[in-house]
Amino acid sequence: MEIITAEYNGSFAKVEDCPTTNLPEFAFIGRSNVGKSSLINMLTGRKGLAHVSKTPGKTQTLNFFKINDRWHLVDLPGYGYAKANKTVRAGFGPMIENYLLQRENLKCCFILVDSNIEPKKIDIEFMNFLGENQVPFVIAYTKCDRISKSKLGLNLMAIRTAISEHWETLPTEFITSAEHRTGREEVLGFIDGVNKNS
Ligand code: GDP
Repeated sequence: MEIITAEYNGSFAKVEDCPTTNLPEFAFIGRSNVGKSSLINMLTGRKGLAHVSKTPGKTQTLNFFKINDRWHLVDLPGYGYAKANKTVRAGFGPMIENYLLQRENLKCCFILVDSNIEPKKIDIEFMNFLGENQVPFVIAYTKCDRISKSKLGLNLMAIRTAISEHWETLPTEFITSAEHRTGREEVLGFIDGVNKNS
């Protein structure tokens, strides 16, 4: 998919406030610092696009970007801010939960996982939450330029094992690097495919 236009389309604090439209949506989420803004900028080919969500002190919002006037990329706030002993819900909060469970336009959620570190409990819990609620998701591993192939293989294996404890089918995976533009065609091709079938 060629990105012809990518424009900021607003930030919304509640799912009820999100644009009324028929455009399909693809949401991007992950732990804070996972490389989400860098990946969004790399995919869209627009350097500063995702920075709108990062203004310090800014209320956490659902940030919409309209791509090619054809689909929305939705930048969700990073999860995992809550203290470790809180429930999963506390980890990503009602705004994200309501969006994921209620937004009919949502076609697929990209869960970003840092390929350089072993899977974190919150990532697995988040995948289980989506799976239990039949929200389609894929995994995008980030920052793969920073890690050796063998270590990457070990980290991927660890996450697959953790997922297999709960689910029979493993999600689709994308190996990405914003730095090297790795995975761009694969991710955009996947989105294109979903859009063509919907
Ligand atoms: P966010 O908080 O999830 O939006 O993460 P950012 O996109 O701001 O990235 C967090 C840090 O990781 C920054 O210092 C980025 O430069 C770095 N980073 C993000 N993506 C990559 C990547 O693909 N490769 C490398 N080496 N560093 C990355």
